[in-house]
Amino acid sequence: MESREIARRLEILRAEMPEGVELVAVSKFKPATEIMAAYEAGQRLFGESRVQELTEKIPLLPADIQWHFIGHLQTNKVRQLVGKVKLIESVDSEKLLKLIDSESRRAGVTSEVLLQVHVADEETKFGFSPEELYDFMAREGYRELTNTMITGMMAMATNTDDIVKVREDFSRAASIFRKIREELPRNPLTLEPLVAWRTLSMGMSGDWPIAVEEGANLIRVGSAIFGDR
Ligand SMILES: *Cc1c(COP(=O)(O)O)cnc(C)c1O
Repeated sequence: MESREIARRLEILRAEMPEGVELVAVSKFKPATEIMAAYEAGQRLFGESRVQELTEKIPLLPADIQWHFIGHLQTNKVRQLVGKVKLIESVDSEKLLKLIDSESRRAGVTSEVLLQVHVADEETKFGFSPEELYDFMAREGYRELTNTMITGMMAMATNTDDIVKVREDFSRAASIFRKIREELPRNPLTLEPLVAWRTLSMGMSGDWPIAVEEGANLIRVGSAIFGDR
């Protein structure tokens, strides 16, 4: 897509987004030239869903871009990814979380991650089930991590035109997010929660306004900025 059109779409999107919501521009399958058009329009936060594509793009683009990894992360790609991104949004199992932690320790970095929770109807979507997530947080599974900070949750709605269903999925994810936040253990002296549970990433091109109404503070938008893939 033309640079001017990318800038125009970004401007419209930003004008529609309420304050306190951050935008990840999802640039998967889009060339560096189009990412540069968004960069020149002021965008600094980008999302990619494949490790190889991401590692190929990073050296072609300005160093002050912040990358989020948003796709299913295969265990054999973790070593290539840690240290390269600001946030891994798509940690979909405890096994993957532990591997990210050990690879981060090995690389001498701290990784920030979101836990992906599965609330959609599709069988194929990755993520912790709500029960698995509650269980992990209740037994304070994060205490074992030395080089990983969990800062919130990511969710996707069912892929459907039924906006009632989409809203239900986001609403469910948001209530899980709030419940976990309320139940986090606190430092007995400062009363600060032990986990900075602050980010709720939900909403894509077709459904982000609903996600934001339900409580998302990070949205991941691709085709509404860069056109169809
Ligand atoms: C591709 C992708 C998006 C962006 O989707 P659009 O519909 O193009 O906005 C958001 N989140 C994830 C996890 C994705 O894989």
